[in-house]
Amino acid sequence: SLLTQQQQLADLQAADKQHFIHPFTDSKGLAEKGTRVIERAQGVYLWDVMGHKLLDAMAGLWCVNVGYGRQSIVDAVAKQMQQLPFYNSFFQCSHPPAIELAQKIASLAPQHMNNVFFTGSGSESNDTNLRMVRRYWDLKGKPNKKTIISRVNAYHGSTVAGASLGGMSGMHEQGDLPIPGIVHIAQPYWYAESKGLSPDAFGLQAAQALEAKILELGEDNVAAFIAEPFQGAGGVIIPPSTYWPEIKRILAKYDILFILDEVISGFGRTGKWFAAQYFDLQPDLISIAKGMTSGYVPMGGVIVSDKVANVIKQECGEFTHGFTYSGHPVAAAAALENIRIIEQEKLVERVATDTSPYLQSALQQLAEHPLVGEVRGIGLVAAIELVKDKATHQRFDSNMAVGMFCRDACIHHGLVMRSVGDTMIISPPLTISHAEIDALVAMATQALNDTY
Ligand code: PLP
Repeated sequence: SLLTQQQQLADLQAADKQHFIHPFTDSKGLAEKGTRVIERAQGVYLWDVMGHKLLDAMAGLWCVNVGYGRQSIVDAVAKQMQQLPFYNSFFQCSHPPAIELAQKIASLAPQHMNNVFFTGSGSESNDTNLRMVRRYWDLKGKPNKKTIISRVNAYHGSTVAGASLGGMSGMHEQGDLPIPGIVHIAQPYWYAESKGLSPDAFGLQAAQALEAKILELGEDNVAAFIAEPFQGAGGVIIPPSTYWPEIKRILAKYDILFILDEVISGFGRTGKWFAAQYFDLQPDLISIAKGMTSGYVPMGGVIVSDKVANVIKQECGEFTHGFTYSGHPVAAAAALENIRIIEQEKLVERVATDTSPYLQSALQQLAEHPLVGEVRGIGLVAAIELVKDKATHQRFDSNMAVGMFCRDACIHHGLVMRSVGDTMIISPPLTISHAEIDALVAMATQALNDTY
């Protein structure tokens, strides 16, 4: 009954308030509001403990690529748990699921990338990158090549190295970050920062900041450049089309490694297996997590190019790095089944040829709304910029928290969208249907009308 459900919610919220410290949360604000408690999910839908149905336009946290309720992943995980719930891949050991998964990922990754180092999360993947690129340069006889260049407003995780590699000022302020040896250049955020330049001119300018930084630091001191193909948590910031070709030119000119963080973009989000293929990039290392298992079980990894793998495998001796759960057999079994589903249902092709064009053109209807300054997207990821003035791109006063209001209005209408400041974010499961996209756009329109 409603009364029992309400009592259950009140009990859960009380216990939550007393015992649970949530990530990226103002606990005091949450305690006043009461946490939203999600109980079950199927396909692209979530249900909270009160029985409210929500369309999850964020695929959890950009990760549930195959959608919720996949019995075959449950079965694969249960079978693996019975057979071998855990064994490590340290000290000359391995097990079939991790071996098969490394082989499978190598077959999907860009051609020059044929090895995987497994981790438990995206953050651990970027910690691994930091250690691997520095070790690589030591072994190449260039021990001064230590500094990693990243970008303002990038997100690379929440461990000390991850948060330092990331360019989120709010994270740097808490905890004396970044650690030494990590520097940040400007981001290619045309809508917010172009100051009247055309997208093409601004894209070139933003890319050339990399060259300027390499010259300032000296090529002999720079280990790597790290970037997301499009910034996800920063607000689905898709670089102008001139950006990546210019970055490629610069990377080819100087002897530094390229780390592409595909924790969000990997496993089909752009309509290619990896955004490296979408943007025609040749990274030395690719960070993966999230869509690797569709979030059913935690797992991450680094896909390693032959150039780096040959050095780490042949010349390093012991690489003194790893996690208990590197290549966890249950997570690997979930990943293998997840990839099998993506292949069997041709989800990557479906995004490219069907759902991406459908979603992106449906979302363009929202660009007409008086609150909306820009709608942009690629594959199955998109952003809607809320602005005070469409012509000048002027924002609302941040105290007004317009994005948060819109997010709450979305929930009220049955839709989960995320707000990054006043940028609304969409990244639904790759399985989303046309009818579900229509429902998403209708609810988003209602929420925008409520906000306006
Ligand atoms: N890198 C990117 C691009 C991400 O979006 C995230 C998480 O959102 C991470 C790294 C960190 O991954 P995790 O939260 O699994 O540590």
